[in-house]
Amino acid sequence: MDNRESMPARTSHGSTSSWRQLRPGQARQEVFWFNDGNIIVRIESRCFRVHRTVLRETGSPYFANLFNEVMHPPNEMVDGCCVYDIEGRGCDFAALLDGLYGQLTCLVEQEPSFFTLACLLRASHRWQVPKLRAWAIQALTRRWPPSLDQVHKQVDLSEHATRLIVLSRECEEKSFLKRAFYRLLSLEDFDLGHKGSTEAGTNAGDASTRGEYDHEKVQWAPADSELAREDILHVVRLQRYAAMFWTLLARKPPSYDFLSDRERHSGWWSGPCSVRLDAVWHKQVTEAGFSIQGGRDPLGCLDNLRDIPWGTLGKICEACVTDCRANWKRQQEAFWKIIDREILDT
Ligand SMILES: [Zn+2]
Repeated sequence: MDNRESMPARTSHGSTSSWRQLRPGQARQEVFWFNDGNIIVRIESRCFRVHRTVLRETGSPYFANLFNEVMHPPNEMVDGCCVYDIEGRGCDFAALLDGLYGQLTCLVEQEPSFFTLACLLRASHRWQVPKLRAWAIQALTRRWPPSLDQVHKQVDLSEHATRLIVLSRECEEKSFLKRAFYRLLSLEDFDLGHKGSTEAGTNAGDASTRGEYDHEKVQWAPADSELAREDILHVVRLQRYAAMFWTLLARKPPSYDFLSDRERHSGWWSGPCSVRLDAVWHKQVTEAGFSIQGGRDPLGCLDNLRDIPWGTLGKICEACVTDCRANWKRQQEAFWKIIDREILDT
């Protein structure tokens, strides 16, 4: 994090303690307004009355710095509390407080929404709270597991893929990038930005309609889904690579040595499996309905390829079916691995 950014913003008002009430337009946050709180944190005109100890005990260097009275003597008092103005987003700070005081980290039979997790991750990154950062990353990983078997089935990532990329860049967390880029690939007309924004709170996919937990009303900012130019280029490169990968794979049957192994097929009057595979490949793969999606979801299409009943449809011998499926599995793994190196430069 930029050191300048981690420095708390000073209050811009006089050094007296004459202020007794919050100024008009500054909203007192009822959820996190504790009468025995001894500080007020003001952010985006939202005021939270909380306890200095609770923030200090997070181990955050940011808050340790903020509460260093020698470096940053408070210059405004309200209701006997020092007021601290900090930069950032109110929804993020509310998520942080929910993680410290509320129910967010101990939800029972309910999962936090992506909006809430995004706010918490941004908050814990910006204000340097390692425990909550780790918790948010763990919850996001649970929501969208990185395993190869799962990654192309995460349909609910579609509406958040650009946001997850923007969030990952902002919070310097690379572990979600690959699956988010892959999900963008699968969208017919994915938005490169400018989507969601303020109307997100009424989207059909909202957490409230899915029974997920929102720490406050969902309010995405337009910038939350605006990909950087470099990431738009990553998407384009990935699209090209995936299309080429699938075209090369699907246009003709594989030429694995075992398919034409004479010894393996000595009992077959119709010759080795390579001959029979040639006869059915175009219809079953090249011209198959699922192949149209090859460039958008090569991992899913490789699943389709493996699921074809080659034994009954093409009279392919059992040993060859097993070996072909193992090879196609390896191609899935290779594709997934190459994205890191060739596409995302990670
Ligand atoms: Zn065979």
